[in-house]
Amino acid sequence: MSVIEIINKLYNTSTATREELNYLLDNLTKKDKEYLIEKSHEIALNNYGNNVYIRGLIEFTNYCIRDCKYCGIRKSNNKADRYRLSIEQILECAELGDKLGYKTFVLQGGEDPYFTDEIMVEIIKKIKGKYPYNAITLSLGERSYESYERMFKAGADRYLLRHETASKELYESLHPNSSFENRRKCLENLKKIGYQIGAGFMVGLPKQTNNDLVNDLLYLKELNPHMCGIGPFIPHKDTPLYNENCGTLEKTITMLALVRLMLPKVLLPATTALGSIDPLGREKGLKAGGNVVMPNLSPTNVREKYSLYDGKICTGDEAAECRACIEKRINKAGFKLNISRGDSLVLSEEEINNINKNIKIEKIIKENLDNISLVKKG
Ligand code: SAH
Repeated sequence: MSVIEIINKLYNTSTATREELNYLLDNLTKKDKEYLIEKSHEIALNNYGNNVYIRGLIEFTNYCIRDCKYCGIRKSNNKADRYRLSIEQILECAELGDKLGYKTFVLQGGEDPYFTDEIMVEIIKKIKGKYPYNAITLSLGERSYESYERMFKAGADRYLLRHETASKELYESLHPNSSFENRRKCLENLKKIGYQIGAGFMVGLPKQTNNDLVNDLLYLKELNPHMCGIGPFIPHKDTPLYNENCGTLEKTITMLALVRLMLPKVLLPATTALGSIDPLGREKGLKAGGNVVMPNLSPTNVREKYSLYDGKICTGDEAAECRACIEKRINKAGFKLNISRGDSLVLSEEEINNINKNIKIEKIIKENLDNISLVKKG
């Protein structure tokens, strides 16, 4: 089969064999790439129209007990200036986000034992109490089944946990004292509990081969996550990988397009890392099948400190500026900003209906509670 025939097969059936994917990645020409991007864009349009969904990102702690070799907030980086947002600060971010029209808050951080289940449950309940119609996405790394379950019951809706790479050997070389199997188990657990889950991987990791990237595609196909975060690896100066090369824009775009073809209904962010290696990286990601962006809602004084890689964009902008800037960029690229919750179409129609029903009920309860407290005050 030729590369074009494999792209057509992916377009028509969302599947390809390992051999075909390897052949495609090894032989893709510039022209083939253009065709691939065209097709992936078409699939995104067929499923989501030209909507781009936005999520407000709250980077609430950069303390971390893990030592991932690529990451700037790894435990061994004693140059990292550590911070934690207080519950009040997190709520302020959510309040600002709600005002700016965000319907999803993403709470992301290093693996920080300070944020126990009790504290996380309190944060989630407080946010949900104020904004029951908004979704909460967590991205706090690996925790126990019970912990995930408690946070889900408290109201968390979604969980981002990139699998990082689906090749065991590569995974283990990058994650000291961590388990490849446990990371995957966590994703399974999250799915079982009922979260909408986000997996994902980095492109251009040192020693990563095309075959490793094929492993990522096949793993994703099997896992069938609701979301998938893909970004280039970018070295951070205070990590063991400081001297390595960045992942390229081209390769990352190719992988985004392939994921769109293999998982037509997945939510696919055009990531900040992509925007950090090219001024129009996010726009190019959207044109290759992406349909989500995650502007920053964190207080500006901590933005620089949440430094996973060098050259991260938007560290100086206020949340409102980020929101306005991204809308302009989305429109200019020919897309429409969609400010709904943007639940994944990987969910069944029944699941989506249930979510909407619950939101309606929660809204009515909140309105009644607000009225009661007004009457009491009056
Ligand atoms: N502690 C959470 C959140 C991690 S940060 C967790 O374990 O999931 C979010 C993502 O940033 C990571 O999953 C990783 O894929 C990405 N990341 C970290 N360092 C990076 C780097 N140097 N270049 C590009 N992406 C990086």
